[in-house]
Amino acid sequence: MPHNALHILLVDDDEIDIMAFARALKRAQINHQLTSCNYAEEALQLLENKPFHCAFVDYQLPGIDGLELLKIIKEKYPKIPVSVLTSQGDEKLAVEMMKSGAFDYFPKSEVSAEKLGKNIRAIERHIDLEAEKEKAQKELREKDAFIQKIVLSSPNIIYVNDLEQGTNIYHNNQIVQILGYNEEEVAALGPQLFSKILDPQDIESTRQHYLKMRHEAKDGEIVESEFKLKSKTGHWVWLLARDTPFKRNEEGKVVEILGTAIDITDRKTAERELLEAKKYAEQAAVAKSEFLSNMSHEIRTPMNAIMGLTDLLLKNDFTKQQTENLKAIKYSADNMLVIINDILDFSKIEAGKLNFENIDFDLHERISLLQKTFHFRAKQKGIYFKILIDPSVPQYLKGDPFRLNQILVNLVGNAIKFTAEGAVSLFVTTYADEICFEVTDTGIGIAPDKLQHIFENFTQAQGNITRKFGGTGLGLAITKRLVEMMKGQIEVQSTEGEGSTFLVSLPYLPGNAALVERETVETEMTNEIAGARILVAEDNPINQMYLKQLVTQWNLDLTMANNGLEVLDECSKNEFDLVLMDVQMPEMDGITATRELRKTLKIPVIALTADAMESTRNELIEAGINDFITKPFKGSELLEKIKKQLIK
Ligand code: ADP
Repeated sequence: MPHNALHILLVDDDEIDIMAFARALKRAQINHQLTSCNYAEEALQLLENKPFHCAFVDYQLPGIDGLELLKIIKEKYPKIPVSVLTSQGDEKLAVEMMKSGAFDYFPKSEVSAEKLGKNIRAIERHIDLEAEKEKAQKELREKDAFIQKIVLSSPNIIYVNDLEQGTNIYHNNQIVQILGYNEEEVAALGPQLFSKILDPQDIESTRQHYLKMRHEAKDGEIVESEFKLKSKTGHWVWLLARDTPFKRNEEGKVVEILGTAIDITDRKTAERELLEAKKYAEQAAVAKSEFLSNMSHEIRTPMNAIMGLTDLLLKNDFTKQQTENLKAIKYSADNMLVIINDILDFSKIEAGKLNFENIDFDLHERISLLQKTFHFRAKQKGIYFKILIDPSVPQYLKGDPFRLNQILVNLVGNAIKFTAEGAVSLFVTTYADEICFEVTDTGIGIAPDKLQHIFENFTQAQGNITRKFGGTGLGLAITKRLVEMMKGQIEVQSTEGEGSTFLVSLPYLPGNAALVERETVETEMTNEIAGARILVAEDNPINQMYLKQLVTQWNLDLTMANNGLEVLDECSKNEFDLVLMDVQMPEMDGITATRELRKTLKIPVIALTADAMESTRNELIEAGINDFITKPFKGSELLEKIKKQLIK
């Protein structure tokens, strides 16, 4: 018993009884402080001013009697144990007193040290128990408040749903905050609030999710779902919910689930914007690639005339100055073609439409062609161009000789372009299962901060480079992509003012010498096809002029048509050995005309196309074309193709 002194209130109108009570208390050796009064009204006053541990009330009191007083005390101070003192023979009343909450009762005549001592010890035990009970209750209340606080202030929505009834049993405040409803509005939505504000589009997936939770989810398993709820302002709020079984019925089916949910609207919006941006970028890429293909077509057609007619003119005797001028035109046209080809290649790589050959070829032969290509240019600049091939390099390889050539032409071309004196060298060797090409020059070099950017599109290391050296800044970007598509690597080392080294390493497969196709071009031998009847369909007058000159030069019998309809007309009237068909023509294009021709005639058709795209080629083949040649073409190439068709 923790109390120092037990504060006892005694209410009795008989002073002698009070004295007897006090004596008995003393004898019982109880540490106490006794306060006594004669009337109930007085007692209530005392109780108001001072805390008492227990009270003893005489049943018979003047004014408010003992029973009444007991009831008032029990109501106002329910924790104070009240024992009732009765006169002899009041047992019946005593029962009523006990019913009204008395702690104990005994007749005044039995007030003795022993009896009182017993009673008071019982009171003390009662007080102790009450104190313990209170402490436990307080702890429980605190724990409860703690859990409530966690649940209420959790940044996540927390809820318990009844799967059988389709109702919400519990939710914390977050739902109110995230969706913008107030408590009353949520209450007004009722227990089916979630289904009332669920996006109709998500009803089916939510139903499936709940079916899964009910029949398949294991205890402790977390199942995620995403859905939209309507906020107070009418917006859809995306939620990511994580549910777990909470209560099962006797059959083991889940009846309640506990879940948390978070607002993922921002993430969803960002995802959607990203998708839209991606779609937009893809559309832009398609538009770009179409534009490039169209542009190349438009440029290739006049280029064909410029290059071809210049070639033809160069065969004549002109003054030295005139010949120089013509050569300059040809040189410029050649350069322009390189640029167009770069742009086309680049757009094809971007569109993922670049294909690689896989044929057997003679590497040594290719490299000696490269030597021939650059020998003159290097000599003109007064620099050395050396090629060294390590004996370990096989002569025959399998792969794409044209793309390999493109890589080397780019690197050697750059090296010569950016070198004013000294030497450019190409060293070929093998290392493990890779073939390595090392192009070294003693040119202007590249500043360290530019070095990492030179492989990017349209990048040039010096701002004034275009004016001084020419170029588009696409060469290395294409080269790098080609190398990567061939599963190789490209590296560069450079010191400004001293020179650069580009190193390309590619995995390689040895080739079969027997399968290498040799190029045997005999452009001057034209007699075997002299007199053949050729129908040329071309709408561009300048190209018509060029083709006319070529064909007459080869002693062919030429008829000219301006469009597809004229081709069909001519073919119905006369007999021809071959048709040269431009693809893009007014009235009826070359592809349609070929399809029409193929209904009745087997005559060989060679298409003249300015479009280097794979898709156009496939369309041509489907239409029934025998061969095609891409503008701008050389006279010798066209002759070769014509011969191939006529001498079969
Ligand atoms: P460009 O058509 O301009 O030559 P490239 O993509 O081939 O485009 O090269 C990009 C830039 O890298 C060049 O403009 C030049 O600044 C730099 N560069 C490339 N090769 C060399 C080299 N061998 N020496 C010095 N600079 C070079």
